[in-house]
Amino acid sequence: MDIEGLIRALPKVEQHIHIVGATRPETLLWLLDEEGKSHKSFKTVADIRRFFQYRDFPHFINIYKTVFRCITREDQFERITYEMLEDDARCNVRYVEASFSAPDHVRQGLDYALMLDAINEGVRQAHQDFGIECNLRIDLVRNYGPDVGVQVLDWIENKNDNIVSIDIGGSEEKFPPKPFACVYQRAKEMGLHLVAHAGEAAGPESVWDAINHLNVERIGHGVTASRDSELVDYLLKRDVTIEMCPTSNLRTGAVPSLQEHPIRTFFDKGIRVTVNTDDPSMFNTNMNNEYLQLHQQLNFGIPELFMLSLNALDSSFLSETQKVQMRKSFIKEYRRLTGALCNL
Ligand SMILES: [Zn+2]
Repeated sequence: MDIEGLIRALPKVEQHIHIVGATRPETLLWLLDEEGKSHKSFKTVADIRRFFQYRDFPHFINIYKTVFRCITREDQFERITYEMLEDDARCNVRYVEASFSAPDHVRQGLDYALMLDAINEGVRQAHQDFGIECNLRIDLVRNYGPDVGVQVLDWIENKNDNIVSIDIGGSEEKFPPKPFACVYQRAKEMGLHLVAHAGEAAGPESVWDAINHLNVERIGHGVTASRDSELVDYLLKRDVTIEMCPTSNLRTGAVPSLQEHPIRTFFDKGIRVTVNTDDPSMFNTNMNNEYLQLHQQLNFGIPELFMLSLNALDSSFLSETQKVQMRKSFIKEYRRLTGALCNL
């Protein structure tokens, strides 16, 4: 089997993928069509691909807002979620933690509980058809402030179908982590895991704050942490996992090139890094491509890529029993694929 075949066949876990950002371009056209919103600029998939070119991170956020506003009914989440998991399953992803930015849609007049039901129907069908597992992380969306974060926790308390964690995404440079400290404390008391986007569009201070004030277990992106060697040591010492999204970072300008992406340095230092797509449709990527890019641009060999899979599994929010079971099956599959004795 050639290297691309091996990469396709490696069992994988995706920790950082936004449901809206996984909306296929064809499905976006369907959403526009359903509401009679057909726009003369968006007739084909190529039109959508052209639209998904970003000048910088704020421009990406603006386009993301345009996309989420195309979802006008709760039941549309079923198809979007199912297709997101179908695309991941095609890359041999076995488990996904998908981010759902609930307040974005509630502010558009959609009902939280109905959206969650539709998402979970998509999850159920994808599990039935592809065997893929999926849990949810709820993005409080930092732009709305901590008061909305508190409301979101109230929603979660009333309906917590397979929600394993909270997160804050959105405009990081304008809305730092610290004001969300109380919200995160309450989420922890509710038994939720804690994740924050940090160090993507703001400097290392944002990562320091997410660790020290929000007590997060995982950081989404963490790219700018590489500018602060003390912080890199601290991430290692605190055993914080960094969910890295190389293609996303290239497309939004967080890194100038994939060769300069810090995932290689972090990995070599022993920090637990994982690789993810973030918004696969909006960045025209998938998990196979992320692994392939790491191989081609940053010299990750197959054993190292498999280590990234295990990192994602070990730092996932599955139960310990589920992790042990999945780890066994991953190692068995890796041995079969590589034909090598695996002493992992
Ligand atoms: Zn993200």
